[in-house]
Amino acid sequence: MSAREPGPFPTHAQTVAEIAANLAAVRARIDAAAARAGRDGAGIRLLPVTKTVTEPRLRAAWEAGVTQMGENKVQEALGKARAMADLAIHWAVIGHLQTNKAKDVAAFAHEFQALDSLRVAEALDRRLQAAGRGLDVYVQVNSSGEDTKFGLVPEAVPAFLAALPAYSSLRVRGLMTLAAHTEDRERVIDCFRLMRDLRDAGLQAGTVGDGELSMGMSGDFELAVEHGSTCVRVGQAVFGRRPTPDSMYWPGRRDGN
Ligand SMILES: *Cc1c(COP(=O)(O)O)cnc(C)c1O
Repeated sequence: MSAREPGPFPTHAQTVAEIAANLAAVRARIDAAAARAGRDGAGIRLLPVTKTVTEPRLRAAWEAGVTQMGENKVQEALGKARAMADLAIHWAVIGHLQTNKAKDVAAFAHEFQALDSLRVAEALDRRLQAAGRGLDVYVQVNSSGEDTKFGLVPEAVPAFLAALPAYSSLRVRGLMTLAAHTEDRERVIDCFRLMRDLRDAGLQAGTVGDGELSMGMSGDFELAVEHGSTCVRVGQAVFGRRPTPDSMYWPGRRDGN
């Protein structure tokens, strides 16, 4: 069994019962992985990733107990937040942000997990100050070295963390990564280990908040939990396999954020 293909993802989950069943299955797998590592699964956060999932299905997810939703594209997230303003959803933006979209994140998001430049930190802080809001942030690290991935190079993380207190509306919670996209488990584990080391160094230096580690997706969340993840971001294992390309289901979203 490879790191990325843990068996087929569930089919398109639509009803409250289907989504609830998938959530329970993922939660059970988190708990089992935690137990293997001598950890308590109750302390591990499951952040459902809702990109490409339509509003009716998200309302069903809410009924199934989902109160936090992760989106990688700001415009998609903002549209959904407005459409479902009647629900007290905790919105987490988990994808790369361009500086000119900082105002949108500052307007509605509770959390931003892909901080990787001081320009974005500055832009967010300025907008947040103006709005009188704060924002939980995770610093994204490119732990795999893959050039398709965003995030800081690992060597840049300590200095970057040390610079963040200047942006007082940003509450640094920890680090985030997408592990290597490979069937080689050892390479995936190397990514998680690297993150743990960076987090531990940040805790020593007092620069990484509580030292949360957001890592693990549908294909590798059990491995991530076994290696210290405190927040897994899971889409397909909850909602079903995502059709590709993502933008097919969200017209006009081919341009990133
Ligand atoms: C899509 C996405 C996920 C979830 O991926 P799944 O395969 O659906 O579990 C996690 N993190 C980020 C940043 C994503 O864009």
